[in-house]
Amino acid sequence: MTKGLIFNIQRYSLHDGPGIRTTIFLKGCPLSCWWCQNPESINREPDLMRQPDRCLGCGSCQEACPEGAVRSGKVGPVIDRDLCTRCLKCTVVCPAEALEAVGREYTVSELVREALKDRFIFDSSGGGVTFSGGEPLMQPDFLEESLQAFCKEGIHTVVDTSGCAPWPILEKISVYTDLFLYDLKLIDDLESEEYTGLSSRLSVENLKKLVEKGALIQIRMPVVPLITDSIANINSIADLLIECGLNELELIPYHNYGTAKYARLDLEYRPGTIKVPTAEQMDRIKARFENRGIRISSEDD
Ligand code: SF4
Ligand code: SF4
Repeated sequence: MTKGLIFNIQRYSLHDGPGIRTTIFLKGCPLSCWWCQNPESINREPDLMRQPDRCLGCGSCQEACPEGAVRSGKVGPVIDRDLCTRCLKCTVVCPAEALEAVGREYTVSELVREALKDRFIFDSSGGGVTFSGGEPLMQPDFLEESLQAFCKEGIHTVVDTSGCAPWPILEKISVYTDLFLYDLKLIDDLESEEYTGLSSRLSVENLKKLVEKGALIQIRMPVVPLITDSIANINSIADLLIECGLNELELIPYHNYGTAKYARLDLEYRPGTIKVPTAEQMDRIKARFENRGIRISSEDD
């Protein structure tokens, strides 16, 4: 039985495709974007997250840990990540959810049952389910089987992807995907490698193949000041859209709502000085694309 590792199921999503949707966040991502606000999504395995301010100081986690990886700090538990094997025993005994497991396994039928609780809302709003992440293509079998099951139920399906996976995976799941939300971040290879950890080549090539196949695609670009908003990158994205015959783009402004999660996972947050784009900056980027004949849709459209 194929199982998937999911770190969040968000109901009533309004920005992940048409209508009111349930967004299913799968764990695992081949990229490591500097600005990522879902750091708990990157690892393909379950993660251990700390919420020290919830700690009651009972000491149960230290007793339960077979590796001696937990000690109590000034505020709450401190984890030695070199010793921790992510067995998650400490999360089971913690009475205050100060130590939490990130990532839960679901079978396809469990997931479908859970999502279909909102069938009425999907039907009345023109919504459905969206697979996001992480990168949902990192769990190809589970993704394909889940999409297939939702299609059978007549539920509209969206896949939110950067396209960074072997083409045969994308080709297979495209059969069951009503709409792709396709993220284009940085087109220049060196910049892409520096800020996302991977070349942009696969993403660009796969986009062209999806277009050729006639897939329905909505392009999205994260606006990260001083990283993705250069004139050269805007022009490269505009060139690619024009070459693909696509004339619409959604701009996603960088936000920093997830920054605190880095500390909870004991990860380093690199873009400490990056600022959220101002309305003027967003308008300037919008105008540049519009000058190239590309319509900009916003999250509120
Ligand atoms: S996940 Fe396991 S090894 Fe890691 S701190 Fe908790 S009990 Fe110890
Ligand atoms: S088990 Fe939970 S509440 Fe108790 S000391 Fe550990 S983190 Fe704190």
